[in-house]
Amino acid sequence: MRVLVALGGNAILQRGQKGNAAEQRDNVQKTVDQIVRMIRAGHEVVVTHGNGPQVGAILIQNELGSTSVPAMPMDVCGAESQGLIGYMFCQSFHNTLALEGLSGHEPACVVTQVEVDPADPAFVHPTKPVGPFYTEEAAKKRMAETGEFWIDDAGRGWRRVVPSPDPKSIVEKDVINSLLEKGFTVIASGGGGIPVIRGADGTYQGVEAVIDKDLAGERLAAAVKADLLMILTDVPRVAINYNTPNQKWLEKLTVTEMEALEKEGHFKAGSMGPKVRAALRFVRNGGSRAVIASLEQALEALEGSAGTQILKD
Ligand code: ADP
Ligand code: MG
Repeated sequence: MRVLVALGGNAILQRGQKGNAAEQRDNVQKTVDQIVRMIRAGHEVVVTHGNGPQVGAILIQNELGSTSVPAMPMDVCGAESQGLIGYMFCQSFHNTLALEGLSGHEPACVVTQVEVDPADPAFVHPTKPVGPFYTEEAAKKRMAETGEFWIDDAGRGWRRVVPSPDPKSIVEKDVINSLLEKGFTVIASGGGGIPVIRGADGTYQGVEAVIDKDLAGERLAAAVKADLLMILTDVPRVAINYNTPNQKWLEKLTVTEMEALEKEGHFKAGSMGPKVRAALRFVRNGGSRAVIASLEQALEALEGSAGTQILKD
């Protein structure tokens, strides 16, 4: 089976960790161990991943270092984060495959651009908080100087918000498919991909925005004609009435059943919401199955015995 695995933040950094390189390497290694279990079981895996904490750190480094060296725009920071995380995954994959004597699945990380629509309403309503926290005064000064949008982020301080447009297509899809044909394990579209807009002449240009990694993962799954979209996170299943006394974990549903629950508002925007939307889109667009599960149960979720399974009607 060809499986698109979308990894959540916990695959690279656990809650409460500082984010030093050693911690991230350790987490990546545990994640790679799970993915290699799937490869050993005979599946072909394409990996995508989040980048929230990593790109957040890069943005802070850019801010603080900007008196010595020029700060980079967000699209460049996104590319840096794909390289950082991609490197850790590639090395970890290579080493694990070598130690286990598994040949023919060498990793390849593709710096990936994802096309977005410049007319996407997200560009008029930025919603995604990124980068360092500022005081109200500093944030207002910055807004006046740059035209950026900053908001009071849940009382924790002021933070820049950027648009989160819907992904349209994966720019490097032909490159990715060629690598898959040759048997490489591809890591692509990290952090939801670098958002770009396409000009009338066919050229691309990066934009200051962030794409949701689960929605971009669905575009990647469709582009590689994956049999299964697998979204791995830090909860074992999707729940209705989440975090209430009436919470109920969902095991197996059809797209129509899941859409009905989505309309009832059970899945929070910014966390479970985009995962469910990505899963529904994948199956609605012709995919045979999507699953949302915990990283620790990856192979079981692939085999159908764990996670929330979303099936065709
Ligand atoms: P990731 O980094 O994997 O994308 P997120 O934090 O974005 O992780 O999303 C996973 C989180 O979604 C879970 O830790 C859980 O707290 C939250 N969540 C919100 N609504 C639900 C729900 N209905 N069922 C399960 N988890 C939910
Ligand atoms: Mg998320």
